Amino acid sequence: MGIKMIKIHEEGTEMSRSMKSDCAKCSGLCCVALFCSKIDGFPEDKTAGKPCHNLQKDYRCKIHEELERRNLRGCTGYDCFGAGQQVTQVIYAGQTWRDSPIQAEEIFQVFLVVIQLHQMCYFLKEAVTLIPAKTLKSDISRLIKRNEEMCRQSPSDILKTDIESYRDEVNCLLKEVCNLLQNHLLVDKRKCPTDFLGKNFKNRNMQGYDLNTKLLIAADFEGCNFRGTTFLGADTRDTNFSNADLGEAVFLSQGQVNAARGNRNTKLPKHLDYPVTWQA
Ligand code: SF4
Ligand code: SF4
Repeated sequence: MGIKMIKIHEEGTEMSRSMKSDCAKCSGLCCVALFCSKIDGFPEDKTAGKPCHNLQKDYRCKIHEELERRNLRGCTGYDCFGAGQQVTQVIYAGQTWRDSPIQAEEIFQVFLVVIQLHQMCYFLKEAVTLIPAKTLKSDISRLIKRNEEMCRQSPSDILKTDIESYRDEVNCLLKEVCNLLQNHLLVDKRKCPTDFLGKNFKNRNMQGYDLNTKLLIAADFEGCNFRGTTFLGADTRDTNFSNADLGEAVFLSQGQVNAARGNRNTKLPKHLDYPVTWQA
């Protein structure tokens, strides 16, 4: 028996702009608040809370145009799911860690909580559009509403958030969503490969596979079909998606796309942008 050709996402639903990083409305929070290491593709080893030496006074990156050429994959692959502008513009009303050094540590801690909330909200907002998971719609919407309320709290309340118990609820629900998807798509129970690292899967049908948390580093997926395939937490560094169809992939993030290789023939979900290096 073949694969059921059912629709994955509802028509006309698109991820909101608030889930996309808008660095012009931020104060370079990721370049300061996070721990970075050369081994992970950043320009230096630095502790959390110390600004990267390339971050300028206007919060722009001095070497932004050269990040690819210098192979700084940590920088090019990073995405904050819109947490940077939420913290800078909404929670702190435009006040930055430089304007108020006394509050800097608190701003960084708030940012670290909000990134996690935004990341979960991003996946929930996609989950609510998935046709095979429509029976879970009201549960997903309830968790989105709670998330948005948490992200609008005062800094002190954000820091008191019980993020672990919220995360447990989200993970549980997303697992149910993935199960529903696979039940709809893997009607012939094709066995998903287990080892992807550097392997060749050119032109294979990857439809409906659960690639959540899989190490896809340097795997070759040129020309593959990823309809309904789930990518929660998958590591896509140097993964080749040239000419692949990711248009109906599920739980794929901008950071994963940025970290991978591809070209203009790669089909991406509508809410994701093509990295500048993905040429024809
Ligand atoms: S924290 Fe987000 S919005 Fe701010 S500079 Fe980093 S990626 Fe851009
Ligand atoms: S090199 Fe640029 S993008 Fe990378 S951490 Fe430093 S300032 Fe940020």
